[in-house]
Amino acid sequence: MSYKVAIDCGHGFNTAGKRTPPFAEALTKTEEGITVNVQAGEQVREHFANVGVAHFLKIALERCGLTTYMSVFGDIDGYMNDVQYGTNGTQDVVARQRDISTKNCDICVSLHFNAYGNGSWNTAKGVELYYHSVASKVGDGRTLANKVWSYLKDAVAGQTQRGVKTSDAYGMCNSTALGVQASILIEHAFMTNVEEARNMMCSPSAWKLYAEAEAKGICEYLGVTYVAEGQQSGGEGQGTGGGEGTGTGEGTGTGTGTGEGGEGQGAEQEAEPIGGIAYHDDTPATPEITDNRQWRVQCGAFSHQKNLDKCLAKLRVSGVQAWYQKEADGMFHVYAGTFSKRGNAVRQSRLLTLAGIANCIKEVR
Ligand SMILES: [Zn+2]
Repeated sequence: MSYKVAIDCGHGFNTAGKRTPPFAEALTKTEEGITVNVQAGEQVREHFANVGVAHFLKIALERCGLTTYMSVFGDIDGYMNDVQYGTNGTQDVVARQRDISTKNCDICVSLHFNAYGNGSWNTAKGVELYYHSVASKVGDGRTLANKVWSYLKDAVAGQTQRGVKTSDAYGMCNSTALGVQASILIEHAFMTNVEEARNMMCSPSAWKLYAEAEAKGICEYLGVTYVAEGQQSGGEGQGTGGGEGTGTGEGTGTGTGTGEGGEGQGAEQEAEPIGGIAYHDDTPATPEITDNRQWRVQCGAFSHQKNLDKCLAKLRVSGVQAWYQKEADGMFHVYAGTFSKRGNAVRQSRLLTLAGIANCIKEVR
């Protein structure tokens, strides 16, 4: 019996958002026998590239004697296997966890491309990798993350290395709910960065480089010999039990929204992405409410100038354009964006949280 790896392709093809901004120029390339063809004006879906990496990862792992389970590999929204899901075809995170937990996998790797900003191209870039920050959910995720990262960071020469990170928000890092000993989530490159979208997200050569690096890390973690392409198979892996535990996990709710837009429209975002804070939406989308209310992301309220300055400095170091004003309570309130759609405020709030900046959302009139 060999080890079994769940390879999760992140999102369905039709999942709202989860695509690049429109390409200004067409792109055609043939690499590794795969032709990628993008028209000018077209938005490339994240699913397409996740499946690209998954394709090569499956090949690499099976070459090394491992077995694989492909999650969300089909080109429909979510996937239709032997488990019944919602009639709208959206595969939510909990359903995916439940499905994978029934497949007796040893580890799970969720493959993604990252996004930042309000739906237009920007400069956020780089590769990064996540494991769960909650002790009861992480399993052995940290060890797996570090093994994979040691190869993945150099997979595409010269790519910015954002590092190994933790989050309590990613259901696909919840080893307990997935019924695996370790699970990680990989953000290979930014689909909102025009160079990374063209040279990594839409590059079969890059997909393969990522996949081979991940296979090396996975083999090292499992104690299996990595077999390079063209080499003789190294024989059987050693089986283990693994895969009990059902858990409920976080991240309920299916995605909402139907728009063809990027990770969010809304030109009213005021905070500029500088340096780029990772944003990955593995959590439920928030329904948009459109009326004349506004939402403001607040990062603190201070009565002393010294504390105000400290807060502003921290925000600016993190690339957030923050401002303050004195409110009726006599305190200086620090804000990092006013939004006419609550969803955009939620998105900004998450970015700040990921950057370690406490915040809350306030409705304003
Ligand atoms: Zn994703």
